[in-house]
Amino acid sequence: MNQLDLIQKLKSILPMVRKWIEDTLEKHNANATPVINLSFSRLKTILPPDLLNRAKVVVVNGDVPFPPLSSMGLPELSRMENMSMAGVTYKDTFFVSHLHQTESLYFHEIVHVVQWERLGIEKFLLAYGYGLMRFGYQDSPLEKMAYSLQARFDNGMLSGDIVQFIQHETDAVWNTVSESISMPGKV
Ligand SMILES: [Zn+2]
Repeated sequence: MNQLDLIQKLKSILPMVRKWIEDTLEKHNANATPVINLSFSRLKTILPPDLLNRAKVVVVNGDVPFPPLSSMGLPELSRMENMSMAGVTYKDTFFVSHLHQTESLYFHEIVHVVQWERLGIEKFLLAYGYGLMRFGYQDSPLEKMAYSLQARFDNGMLSGDIVQFIQHETDAVWNTVSESISMPGKV
């Protein structure tokens, strides 16, 4: 199956994925803590308080929740489904394994929170899904951005308006993805 067919399939299951995300967030709502309430001081020096107030974390024992894409009709992404992930973000909430509660990982997931806010649920899922299919997990553009900013966070090399930078980069990712999706010749 080629990438465009996969994108069509992804589009067709988007309502199901959206419902799964809403249900999952609802289910864990009582355990979601705004990041601003935690004692990660570097996050507070680098990211604005309103973002740290909106961004919430749910710490889980065991695997972080991931949509059952195979049973939703997209077994092509089952590698992602079966990956053991330290963290994952849905909209303004991220889930981390209790074994991986580092400030660095929290920063990575907050980059995704900004991406989600910028794109909204549908565009985020399309951009993320397209990136996975085309480049694989590590090199998918939204992950690449998060990993590269995380590396700079780890090295103490972040400065300036990070949120604006992420928004700008996310717009660029979406422009590329939307062109690729709507112009078959380019894929
Ligand atoms: Zn990530």
